[in-house]
Amino acid sequence: MILKRFSHSGIQSFKKCPAQFKFRYIDQNYKKDEGVEAFLGKRVHESIEYLYNLVKTGVVPLVDEILKVHRSLWKEKWHNRVAIVYQNKQARDYFNLGEECIARFYRLNYPFEEKVIANEHEMVFLLDNDENYKIKGIVDRIDHDGNGNWEIHDYKTGKRALSQNAADKDHQLALYQIGLMSEIENIKSVKLVWHFIQHGIKVESIRNNDELNNVIIETKNAIDTIRTKIINGGIFPPKKTILCNWCYYWEECSSQSGTNPYFNS
Ligand code: SF4
Repeated sequence: MILKRFSHSGIQSFKKCPAQFKFRYIDQNYKKDEGVEAFLGKRVHESIEYLYNLVKTGVVPLVDEILKVHRSLWKEKWHNRVAIVYQNKQARDYFNLGEECIARFYRLNYPFEEKVIANEHEMVFLLDNDENYKIKGIVDRIDHDGNGNWEIHDYKTGKRALSQNAADKDHQLALYQIGLMSEIENIKSVKLVWHFIQHGIKVESIRNNDELNNVIIETKNAIDTIRTKIINGGIFPPKKTILCNWCYYWEECSSQSGTNPYFNS
C-alpha cells in the first residue's frame, strides 16, 4: 500500500513507534479507544471553536455559556473506551481541568478582538508543488488583520509547554504556514502562535524562507523513509516507552501481551 497523504501527527507517530504507525496508518485499524487526555483536548477545542464561531459573527458570549457547551459535549461524547492511566485520578478531575482551561483561556483572551477568518480549518496542500508529497492538517484558528498579516493559532491542553527554542523548531505550525501560503496570495507576514492553556501562556514564532525550506526538506525525507520501508516490505518495530500506557494496540503489538488494562475498566 502506498500512502498518498501524510499528516504531521502521522509522521510523529512513525518516529514515536513505527509499529503503532503501521496499525493506525497502513492497516487503518481505527478504534474508538482514546486516553482521557485526548478526550479532554477534543472537548476544550470544540468549546473554543464554539466561542470563536460566535466571535466571528460579532457576538461575545459569556464564559458561562462556553462552560455549559463544554459540560454538554463532555456528557454527550463520553464513552466506555476512554482510558484513565493515572489511577489516582478520576474522570471528574479531567472534566474540572477542562473547565479550568476554558475559564483561563476566556479570561486571558477577553474581549476577543482577534480578526478570526477560520476555525478548525482543514487544509490539503503539496510540498514544493509536488503531487507525491501531499499533506493534510487541521488548523485550530486562522486570523487575518485585513492587510496581509496572518496568524496561525494552535491550542494545547497537555501538561507540557514548548520553550521558545522548541517552538522555533516545531514543524506542525510551520507546515500549516506552508499550506496557508499555497492557498493565499499577497501574504505579508505569518505569525505562529501556540496557546498552552493549562499554563496560561502563549508562545509565538516567525519563520523565514530558509527555515520553511528546511521543514519541507525534512518532511519529504521523513515521507521517503516511510514509503521506502513500505515498498521494501520492511519491519515496523515496536518501540516500548511510557507512552505504551496510552496505546490501544496491545492486542496487535508483538511487544505486549493481552489488552491494555487501562482500556478495560
Ligand atoms: S504498545 Fe507500545 S510498542 Fe506496542 S504499538 Fe503501542 S506504543 Fe508501540
